[in-house]
Amino acid sequence: MPYTLKPGDALIVVDVQKDYCPGGTLPVKDAEAIISVINGWIAEAIARKVPVYASRDWHPRGHISFLERGGPWPPHCLQGSDGARFHPELLLFQWVNIVTKGMHPHREQNSVFDGTALAAQLRRKGIERLWIGGLSKGLCVCATALDACREGFEVILIADATRPAPQWNIESIPFENCETWMEQHTT
Ligand SMILES: [Zn+2]
Repeated sequence: MPYTLKPGDALIVVDVQKDYCPGGTLPVKDAEAIISVINGWIAEAIARKVPVYASRDWHPRGHISFLERGGPWPPHCLQGSDGARFHPELLLFQWVNIVTKGMHPHREQNSVFDGTALAAQLRRKGIERLWIGGLSKGLCVCATALDACREGFEVILIADATRPAPQWNIESIPFENCETWMEQHTT
């Protein structure tokens, strides 16, 4: 289906960072396949004056989610590291808003709404509906979608703009089947 962005929408691109891509410390299978899809959405959003928010995980050393702290993940997206950079092919125009998250050393913050001012920013702009994609489904993408619903936004998951979370050292992915309760759209 074609893009259906309209005024009152925003596009949320979750954590398309090098550590979540092949060669990174916590790679998501097939992650790079979503980049051209997301770039198409970003270009369309810019053309229609729909605001774009790109989040990034930005962890301090010894973050609670790391193996050394008893968490499930190898260190990833360390503040200022190469792995924390956005994927170089991601289309980041200067007017894409960057949202930094995951900075608290003792708290997991999967959702882009957790500990950020995003909800208030979106409301101030009159945003009512969010289109969400990025890395990875079952973790940060769906945690964000769930919080967005709680915050009263209409939420649509861009199904071909996300990929499942890595089955690393974790028994169950927190939001593994989150697409079952969300409206979905395939580009
Ligand atoms: Zn993380």
